[in-house]
Amino acid sequence: MSSTSPTSSSKAGSAAQRSGLLLGSLGAAVRFAVTTRAGGVSRAPYDTLNLSTAVGDDPIAVAENRRRVKASCGLRSVCFQYAEHGAHIEEIDFPRASAAADPVADGMVTTVPGVGLAALAGDCVPFAVTDVGGGVVAVGHCGWRGLLAGVVEAVVDAVRVRAKGPLLAAIGPAICSACYPVGEDVAARVVAKVPAAAVRTPEGRPALDLRAGVDAELGLRGVEVTRVVAGCTYEDPRFFSHRRDGRTGRHALLAWLEA
Ligand SMILES: [Zn+2]
Repeated sequence: MSSTSPTSSSKAGSAAQRSGLLLGSLGAAVRFAVTTRAGGVSRAPYDTLNLSTAVGDDPIAVAENRRRVKASCGLRSVCFQYAEHGAHIEEIDFPRASAAADPVADGMVTTVPGVGLAALAGDCVPFAVTDVGGGVVAVGHCGWRGLLAGVVEAVVDAVRVRAKGPLLAAIGPAICSACYPVGEDVAARVVAKVPAAAVRTPEGRPALDLRAGVDAELGLRGVEVTRVVAGCTYEDPRFFSHRRDGRTGRHALLAWLEA
């Protein structure tokens, strides 16, 4: 797993940097962006670029935040998923504009260029998968429930059946294991399914390394992780963290096929 700072080179890139987005590319034809808290209009505790309609924020503010992200990425359409911590994957085969149309899914896949897919997160791991040919892209959202439900394998399967050639992945920011102690019951369930995600804190408490778990699940299925956006959401104030703040917003990892 190599680490990288996404860089930008396009016009959309400089707009994105102004609005606090981190931009990168993946394979031949996929661009991705990770949003931060900066550049939006939401008030505390959702300040400022909250992209979720499911956390109690003002829907008008969320709509404006989404419009800004779309413009910064140079996209005409972005589909934001309404995650359920399961493993349902939705195919997005046409542009969707309205927040009311957020699909209930933990992963989305598309082969349509210029349609952005956005996985929301606030400690969980957002990730994107594509093929080297750049004919398909998917995003997913994975916490410990998602690891147990098999969301990583579901996203990989959805890409693989549409892919030409080997698969590549990018992993976004997430809570680190030092900040994510869990109960013995959760640790035991995770270790049985994804051993790489179950670790111990220096004090010996059970903890989860969600990114290591997602990385291992991708690797097991032959997917090479070529981009990692560093940062612990709990420690890095640029990001939203549910565990740190409770009632708060959600950032996103967006990915799209270049039009
Ligand atoms: Zn941390």
